Amino acid sequence: MLPFTRPTIGEQEQTAIREVLESGWLASGPRVLEFEQALAAYLGNDVTVRVFNSGTSALEASLLASGIGPGDKVIVPAMSFVATANVVVRVGATPVFVDVEPVSRNLDVTQIESVLTSEVKAIMPVHFAGRAADMPRIHEIAAASGIQVIEDAAQAIGTRQSDQPIGASGNPVCFSFHPNKNMTTIEGGAVAVKDEEFVARLERLRFHGIQRDLQGHIDVPEWGGKMNLSDVSAALGLVQLARLDEFNQRRRELACRYLKRLPRHPALTLPEDVPGHSWHMFCVALDFAQLNTDRSTFQQALQAQGIATGTHYPAIHLFSLYRRYGYNPGDFPVTERIAKQTLTLPLFPQMTDEDVDRVCNAFSTLLEATKA
Ligand SMILES: *Cc1c(COP(=O)(O)O)cnc(C)c1O
Repeated sequence: MLPFTRPTIGEQEQTAIREVLESGWLASGPRVLEFEQALAAYLGNDVTVRVFNSGTSALEASLLASGIGPGDKVIVPAMSFVATANVVVRVGATPVFVDVEPVSRNLDVTQIESVLTSEVKAIMPVHFAGRAADMPRIHEIAAASGIQVIEDAAQAIGTRQSDQPIGASGNPVCFSFHPNKNMTTIEGGAVAVKDEEFVARLERLRFHGIQRDLQGHIDVPEWGGKMNLSDVSAALGLVQLARLDEFNQRRRELACRYLKRLPRHPALTLPEDVPGHSWHMFCVALDFAQLNTDRSTFQQALQAQGIATGTHYPAIHLFSLYRRYGYNPGDFPVTERIAKQTLTLPLFPQMTDEDVDRVCNAFSTLLEATKA
């Protein structure tokens, strides 16, 4: 069975974890500091990195450190993993959805201005599947309207835009190291930012609100939770980060092979290769209605040939929680179409060229067979 994703874990990872287990210090310690410095060096531009126990925690802490809370609104794309909107709800603010572009699946920047009100305090773009959102335009709009930019870069570690890594901009950028992402710490996340006071708040928020002065006296000036990363995870992250560019290079090769070998068909929309894409996922859209079939039949037929697929993602605004904010079917046509048509094909660094060819052949044969 070919899964749609799988982490790459080798001897180096096992050794790094064993060393921490044998060291006697398992929770946040020297490996966390080292991992934060390595991530900052990888991103460049003198950003500071603080790691968290998940990408979700990194986003929550960034919203809180940005002073976002009850009464505030945050613009998010309707097409993303649901965590993007859930974190806004978690801090007591209200998500304001916008539609996405059909091919990149990134926030449609032409729709931002129509939802800007005085209550909107921030915008949280997502770099879908590792393809950077239009950050130059988003920064321009944010600057003109005085709102903050917090990037959900959960899928974009290693992505580049305008010759700079996503994460080097200076505004808070949040990464995830869940096992499905391009590098993993099992569970984990990080915020990269360029503001020392913001960093101090992140540190308090992730660990009980505790603040230490130079003499080592502690105070708790504000609430903080429990969102720190373990040294076991950080040690794994250090090895994975050292291999990240190689992983992403292999992802690109596999994605380009898919793009070369998948059929061109009027019912099929393929993703595009753009410079700096980190190819977190390879998501196609298929107009199943036009093919007189449905997605689960198509998926089952691939499954029967040992090929697993994913469906990233259902439209967030149509979940019952978000329907209660007044959203309805028809609000975001592009998101809703992608949600119905999307199919994630297997993509992970250890796949072989032959694996890609096998998926392409099975996919083409099925497409032929279902032709209306
Ligand atoms: C994975 C993901 C998250 C959440 O990250 P976790 O580490 O699983 O908490 C948030 N947003 C997006 C877009 C993601 O893909």
